Amino acid sequence: MDLTHSPADEAFRTEARAWLAAHVPAVPLPSLETEEGFGAHRAWEAELAADRWSVVSWPAAYGGRDAGLLRWLVFEEEYYAAGAPGRVGQNGISLLAPTLFDHGTEEQRARVLPPMATGEVIWAQAWSEPGAGSDLASLTSKAVRTEGGWLVNGQKTWSSRAAFADRAFGLFRSEPRTPKPHQGLTYLMFDLRAPGVTVRPIGRLDGKPAFADIFLDDVFVPDEDVIGEPGQGWRIAMSAAGNERGLTLRSPGRFLAAADRLVELWRGRGSPSQERERVADAVIGARAYQLFAYAAAARFLDGEPIGPESSLNKVFWSEYDIALHETALDLLGRDGELADTDWAEGYVFALAGPIYAGTNEIQRDIVAERLLGLPKGRR
Ligand SMILES: Cc1cc2nc3c(=O)[nH]c(=O)nc-3n(C[C@H](O)[C@H](O)[C@H](O)COP(=O)(O)OP(=O)(O)OC[C@H]3O[C@@H](n4cnc5c(N)ncnc54)[C@H](O)[C@@H]3O)c2cc1C
Repeated sequence: MDLTHSPADEAFRTEARAWLAAHVPAVPLPSLETEEGFGAHRAWEAELAADRWSVVSWPAAYGGRDAGLLRWLVFEEEYYAAGAPGRVGQNGISLLAPTLFDHGTEEQRARVLPPMATGEVIWAQAWSEPGAGSDLASLTSKAVRTEGGWLVNGQKTWSSRAAFADRAFGLFRSEPRTPKPHQGLTYLMFDLRAPGVTVRPIGRLDGKPAFADIFLDDVFVPDEDVIGEPGQGWRIAMSAAGNERGLTLRSPGRFLAAADRLVELWRGRGSPSQERERVADAVIGARAYQLFAYAAAARFLDGEPIGPESSLNKVFWSEYDIALHETALDLLGRDGELADTDWAEGYVFALAGPIYAGTNEIQRDIVAERLLGLPKGRR
């Protein structure tokens, strides 16, 4: 594999770097898990979109730059190196948009994607339910046919950003009796402010409402908001889940920048020798993940699906993120625990990495069975 970037890719990198240097807010935005921070991040999405930096890999018709996956990786490296804000639009951009590119109608893409790119409409993912997490196919929220659409009832939970978001996408049981639980599900988009929807924020460890419960009571969803064929929701949803774990959810640029910040922190604390190896491991880990991500992107561009290898990526980045933050907090000592630093907030978030996007236990099962060919475990 040739790892050198073309002159055109380097020109793209230079252009992105210059734009970011001129636009990244000098003072970090407040946490996007607060109402104030959510608004500030939404405005940042609009600023990015105004110069078409919000969704660089998308077609120009929807606000992108037709830049492709490799340049997206380059952009992300520049984005995080510049210290730019976390993306409040990520659920929509990295999960719903790929689904609509593959399974949506032209009308849905034209209607949904541009306001997603600008942050005007922020999306929440409504998959999990109180009785359906790892075993998502056991979900019980229902969609029942009505004139011109569907009536939806049930409860979704752990929905990130739903406390302040505008719309959500999720799976609903539209056929009550099917031979297998993942059959008869329909993939719908719905308005979080529609009549019958109640959103109840759930506080994170630090109290910030990072997620919400969503209660649905006879909520009307028009036919135009069904993605793909009714009953085919599982197949459609799973095609996006691999992207989430494998690549787009955690770009290597984020970890390269975090490892650089860790080295700075270590130097700033007098380069303590007892943390030397852990800091070196963090730098090596970020590089390894970068290579892994470029390899996954190259395979994808050659027409291969990201496939079960995405589970390897997911386990790697989630465990790496925790180790990196633990090293930073150890370097900070008491300062790290007392101050509301980026490292402390990052640590709280990193702790959840082995759970969301499919728990690491489940990912390890996938690796064991589908990559290593080991026998199925007893479930
Ligand atoms: C920060 C965060 C953000 C999230 N955001 C969203 C969101 O935006 N939208 C959304 O829909 N959901 C979201 N979730 C929910 C997340 O997807 C679920 O928490 C996750 O899928 C696990 O489901 P569960 O919590 O029901 O745990 P369970 O499925 O009950 O699992 C409990 C434990 O048992 C293990 N386990 C379960 N089954 C097996 C098995 N077959 N083999 C081995 N071990 C097993 C699990 O690995 C886990 O350790 C989020 C969660 C977190 C923490």
